[in-house]
Amino acid sequence: MSTNKFETNAIRTQLKRSENLEHSVPMYVTSSFVFEDAEDMRASFAEEKERNIYSRYSNPNSSEFIEKVCQMEGAEDGFAFASGMAAVFSTLAALLDTGDHVISSRSIFGSTHSLFNNFFPKWNISHSYFKCDEVEKIESLITPKTKILYAETPTNPGVDVLDLEYLGAIAKKHNLILVIDNCFASPYLQQPIKFGADLVIHSGTKLMDGQGRVLAGITVGKRELVDKVYRFSRITGPALSPFNAWVLSKSLETLAVRVDRHCDNALKLAAFLEGHEKVNWVRYPFLKSHPKYEVAKKQMKAGGCVVAFEVKGGLEAGQKFFNSIKLLSLSANLGDSRSIVTHPASTTHSKLSVEERAETGITDGTVRVSVGLEHVDDIIADIKQALEA
Ligand SMILES: *Cc1c(COP(=O)(O)O)cnc(C)c1O
Repeated sequence: MSTNKFETNAIRTQLKRSENLEHSVPMYVTSSFVFEDAEDMRASFAEEKERNIYSRYSNPNSSEFIEKVCQMEGAEDGFAFASGMAAVFSTLAALLDTGDHVISSRSIFGSTHSLFNNFFPKWNISHSYFKCDEVEKIESLITPKTKILYAETPTNPGVDVLDLEYLGAIAKKHNLILVIDNCFASPYLQQPIKFGADLVIHSGTKLMDGQGRVLAGITVGKRELVDKVYRFSRITGPALSPFNAWVLSKSLETLAVRVDRHCDNALKLAAFLEGHEKVNWVRYPFLKSHPKYEVAKKQMKAGGCVVAFEVKGGLEAGQKFFNSIKLLSLSANLGDSRSIVTHPASTTHSKLSVEERAETGITDGTVRVSVGLEHVDDIIADIKQALEA
């Protein structure tokens, strides 16, 4: 039975049952697959038939995970990776040649930033950054060697929102490959391909797993581009393990209900913080005060699980708040069922100068909360007592 309902597909898209008639899909923990005879093996290696050969290339559990995400994102094809960063690196490395240039938003995941700054220059691949509130400058950064336009939305940790339709139009006009890291939204809240993205990347570690258990990554999108990513990856070996793929496929069955609750809780926390006397500002895409509220409404189903705000009183007040948290976890992950608080200025971004931090939207008092699935009253109560401490 075919349907266009997200929740139904998330649950009912699964591998064909084996002769054991299992209800839940089994785990194919095998490194390789066997052949009927020499001709079968020859034809398989010649890619005359589509079948599993070796789990570095493909595995039934990974294929199920990929198929689910392709359906969610409206993508033609995909490849699953051992981590989000394996997906980011392999995708970019597969598509870029020496001498190429990438344009990226400045607010991107720290390791992706490091890839552009510290590693790609080794292969003479250069980049230019644009600020989230200066997208009109993107066109002036394009050179004859520009191949990829790269962005994340919403951004981390500043919770900025980029207009995907605008990025899609620029990419089309200048024949650039638009790559969107959709990790913060999850495929349930936002499908960048609808707005012109060519490839969509996820860290499956975050909302997709949603329970802080496994690392995973995935790239989905146009078949012709995914094929290049696949050719590169089956040689270099960043494939997702069958066990993690199995966990992820199960997790996706509950993505919609989990993310709905993450978003309800996050919006309630954001509204609470907005009225608090110890708070300078609050950033959440679905708060009317967010500068890109209209854009967020256009491209997202709800605001996501991350709320950023600034505690009055700078670094000291930020650290004091952080130290006073009792229930929530002090950790660096996000999208987990457990709410997580981070203070970027004293932790993840402490090596940057004040100016560099400001460029990514982080002030000394900035706090990021990944709002989890505990009862929202308890989440708010913990943050309230820490603010008053
Ligand atoms: C976590 C994250 C990544 C990297 O994913 P890993 O699974 O940790 O390798 C990439 N992009 C974004 C936006 C992330 O939050």
